[in-house]
Amino acid sequence: MSQLVIEQIPVLTDNYVYLAHDRDSGATAVIDPAVAPPVLERLEAKGWRLTHILNTHHHNDHVGGNQALKQATGAQIVGHRKDAARIPGIDLEVSDGDSFLLGASAAMVMEVPGHTVGHIAFWFPGSHALFCGDTLFALGCGRLFEGTGEQMWNSLKKFRSLPDETLVYCAHEYTEANARFARTVERHNQALLDRIVEIKDLRQHHRPTVPSTVGVERKTNPFLRADVGSVKAGVGLPPDADPALVFTEIRRRKDAF
Ligand SMILES: [Zn+2]
Repeated sequence: MSQLVIEQIPVLTDNYVYLAHDRDSGATAVIDPAVAPPVLERLEAKGWRLTHILNTHHHNDHVGGNQALKQATGAQIVGHRKDAARIPGIDLEVSDGDSFLLGASAAMVMEVPGHTVGHIAFWFPGSHALFCGDTLFALGCGRLFEGTGEQMWNSLKKFRSLPDETLVYCAHEYTEANARFARTVERHNQALLDRIVEIKDLRQHHRPTVPSTVGVERKTNPFLRADVGSVKAGVGLPPDADPALVFTEIRRRKDAF
């Protein structure tokens, strides 16, 4: 099966834009281009031709570079059918469960509402790569701008069911702040405490903490653990509390943190 080569481009204050290059065919996608110039520079440095622009959702720090990149390269823009009116230049409208080919690499579309109602993720099972936009972050999750806690919890459970080795390419470097909050929820989770040490070290050396993996997030990210007893207790809820309510309480506390 064809493997993707993935390039991470830090832009703006804390956004990550990604290039995914299918070695066999030469097809190349950019995921969530906040801005165009650093993407064009990286394409030129790698000698890659842009064929696809993949948008997880409509926020400007994810679609701001769409039109300029489409104009410069003729790439096809892929986004959620529901959000077609909010995705500049959209060409291919996709929905939950759809798949499409980036060259020889198959992408699966996952509908994951919560941060926005039209949020999707792109999963490339052959490369163990998940581009999840602002739904799941390393040790965190996106704010609920348009959806409910229950919707977001169900979206995160979809990610949690992916294989452990799945690489989580999220769209922001928020991990250090997320870690400070996560520790207030689960102060005795040793996997979390070990991870916090690693994160501090990476950031002190100005290195990215992203991507992480689904396996690591499942063990340490409080937002993926709303059905775990220690997390329920950590936010003052009883063992039989409904996980969607527990999730909503964790999100409320993080918003106020
Ligand atoms: Zn967003």
